[in-house]
Amino acid sequence: MHSPERLPELLRGVGMTSQRTRDRMVARLAKQGITDERVLGVMAAEPRHLFLDEALAHRAYEDTSLPIGHGQTLSQPWMVARMTELVMNEAPRRVLEIGTGSGYQTLILSRLVPELWSVERINALHHLAAKRLRLLKAHNARLRLADGGHGWQEAAPFDVVLLTACAHELPEVLISQLSEEGVMILPLADPNGEQWLTRVRRSGTQHDVQRLERVRFVPLLQGVIR
Ligand code: SAH
Repeated sequence: MHSPERLPELLRGVGMTSQRTRDRMVARLAKQGITDERVLGVMAAEPRHLFLDEALAHRAYEDTSLPIGHGQTLSQPWMVARMTELVMNEAPRRVLEIGTGSGYQTLILSRLVPELWSVERINALHHLAAKRLRLLKAHNARLRLADGGHGWQEAAPFDVVLLTACAHELPEVLISQLSEEGVMILPLADPNGEQWLTRVRRSGTQHDVQRLERVRFVPLLQGVIR
């Protein structure tokens, strides 16, 4: 964990947490097919290493997912970029994220969308993410400790709902919190347990489900852990 006294130093970035390391990550993302300049721009600018335990910070810009405690993981940079690109394709004003986790995906989204809500079910992760996002002045991100399966009714409707944990069936409650033409992006498991990045496009009372690529996420779970 980063002590507040260490933050200025970590923010400046030394060695494996430096701007050059981030630039290399972004060059790799572009090679891997990420084309949205806005997404590449914020990922080049924002300190991913601050979202990991200090012992893992030097690996923050590697092409891999990393543990954040409580059996959860920070997705690999490519996955964050890909999902952010899918969100940005919708030019959304209001976005709901389910699974704050470390808060890194939340930070990236907060720099790109006007209004953001994010829900996490594990208290310790929620608290730490809130602290980091406050320090990084992501003031347009509102966080809540809750079971994201219920969405965020008072703030609905959302133009985009993004899940960063894998559902086993389409979360109807979340679909109901989409705006008329809203989109949900989520990892969704098929009956064989294979996970697919999936886009659900609402149109009035109907919705259209589109399967994108194979992915691997931690499961969407129920209840709150205090
Ligand atoms: N976007 C995160 C990824 C974290 S992993 C990051 O950038 O670090 C997925 C997160 O979803 C975990 O923190 C897990 O606790 C959370 N999660 C799983 N089921 C949930 C639920 N029903 N409601 C809210 N959060 C949930």
